[in-house]
Amino acid sequence: MKTGTAVRRKTVKRRGSLVLAVSYCIISLATGCRALGMATPPAQKSLSVYFFDVGHGDATIIRTPGGKNILVDAGGGGKKRDMGRDVILPFMRAHGIRRLDAVVMSHADSDHIGGMRSILASSVQVGEFLDPGYPHTAQLYDDILTMVKRRPQTKYRQPCAGDILDWGPELKVRVMGPVKPVDMGTNPNDSSLVIMLTYGAVSVLLTGDAGKSEERDMIDRFGPSLRARILKVGHHGSRNSSSEAFLKAVAPEVAVISASGREGQPKYRFALDRLKAAGATVYATDYNGTLTLTSDGRGFRITGATRSAPVWKGKALPQGGGVTHEPVRTQGALR
Ligand SMILES: [Zn+2]
Repeated sequence: MKTGTAVRRKTVKRRGSLVLAVSYCIISLATGCRALGMATPPAQKSLSVYFFDVGHGDATIIRTPGGKNILVDAGGGGKKRDMGRDVILPFMRAHGIRRLDAVVMSHADSDHIGGMRSILASSVQVGEFLDPGYPHTAQLYDDILTMVKRRPQTKYRQPCAGDILDWGPELKVRVMGPVKPVDMGTNPNDSSLVIMLTYGAVSVLLTGDAGKSEERDMIDRFGPSLRARILKVGHHGSRNSSSEAFLKAVAPEVAVISASGREGQPKYRFALDRLKAAGATVYATDYNGTLTLTSDGRGFRITGATRSAPVWKGKALPQGGGVTHEPVRTQGALR
């Protein structure tokens, strides 16, 4: 027979165990239920778009609010400097990105896909590979296609203007170009895959190297749907892109130029003049370094790795959380 003291001791012990179990559950809930084996990576609440400083070329990574990662172009690639190996893969490692849900090739010029070989040769998983399908004769393009074919997990796709891409329910992603069927007769730049990414009230238009001809096609096909608060300027700001009509249709608050400024003379002065006239605030990778755009779907913010002040501060500043910068003098290197 148990004594009263023994029964009390057991009750105290049981209560102690109950308190421990409840505390364990509370701690587990507070730490995201890790201890219960229910850990899921927290969804990123914001959209981030990185416009990498890859000299003359384009390379962009999109991190969606739902946790997907998309690569649009990969800069140039050579033995000395390979943007895939030297810029994109180190960035992905630093951010713990092991899978690209989609790799988009705007077009097959070497300053856009040269760095892609390193990505495709790595252990990074690729869900989908998007190609405008221009029959480019370059060996580099053949190499890339062969590498994609050797990846059975990667879906190859040639999207058409008007297609909606599924990069998560929180985003609307629409293919805006090329509008006309691609063929050898056209300039490959004018067969660039153009993508409109919309998160809430914030749209980003990625144009590859689309020239005035493709811009005209997009105006005719999409009209007011081309409006975007952020424009990745076509063809590194060359004189053959960013027509007045296109800038009027897009009406960007912010323009991002991906280019190299050689000896202080930017090649993008033609686009810069037109963007100034259009009232856009202009950033450029040769001046700002890699540019990071973040958005909560209402406003957006842009910061540069080298400096965050824009090349040109336009009339239309980013709304709802955007950064206000002082204008940069227009004499000298950046006119
Ligand atoms: Zn280019």
